[in-house]
Amino acid sequence: MSKESILQNIDEVLKRIELVCKNCGRNKEEVKLLLATKTVSSDDIKIALSSGQTLIAENKVQELKSKYEDLKDVLHVNHFIGHLQTNKIKDILKCDVKCIESVDRLDLALKLHEKLKADGKTMEIFIEVNTSGEASKFGVELKDAVSLAKEISKLDSLHVKGLMTIGLFSDDEVKVRECFKKLKNLLTTIKALNLPNFDLKELSMGMSGDLEIAIEEGSTIVRVGSAIFGARNYH
Ligand SMILES: *Cc1c(COP(=O)(O)O)cnc(C)c1O
Repeated sequence: MSKESILQNIDEVLKRIELVCKNCGRNKEEVKLLLATKTVSSDDIKIALSSGQTLIAENKVQELKSKYEDLKDVLHVNHFIGHLQTNKIKDILKCDVKCIESVDRLDLALKLHEKLKADGKTMEIFIEVNTSGEASKFGVELKDAVSLAKEISKLDSLHVKGLMTIGLFSDDEVKVRECFKKLKNLLTTIKALNLPNFDLKELSMGMSGDLEIAIEEGSTIVRVGSAIFGARNYH
């Protein structure tokens, strides 16, 4: 990708966000753009960050580690949005990740908590929910989400700030929207429980293809990759 295309694509995505906010009566400041940077080179990430965007996320620990040195002097905030194996927790904690959006099971939360406790640290997390019911997707199943939240609330090194989901990949807008509605409803349900260590503010939902629907349904973070960096080239 050329520098011009990346910067132009960011502009276009920001315009999409602005337009949908305007049309559904939301303030555009309520929606943050997260750059999903998997398979994107450090140089291209730096170009994207030069636009003034600051929030980026990898979905593989290996990629996060390999770009860490290149990016460490450039202003940015790292989230993590991929499936996390417990044996990678040590690595991820070395890479200045502010928030792990993909906590989806108790054993991961427990091991993360143990390691943070040992280091005298705390961390922000989101709970990832499988709202589409597809077996191929990570995320806690909707029916188990409240009980997972209750268990996680006992772990005081984890500050739970939001929920994350990947919507159904489908042209059926009604079904995609249903996923985002479910996450929003779950947020309301969990908030009402007033759990300790929970301060739910963020709904991380919406990607290149469905960010408009997600924003209409209350998204506060859209995670955008291909609309900015082009189609991914997996090796
Ligand atoms: C890759 C990825 C995205 C971005 O997807 P695009 O369709 O390229 O915008 C968002 N969320 C997660 C968890 C991802 O892995």
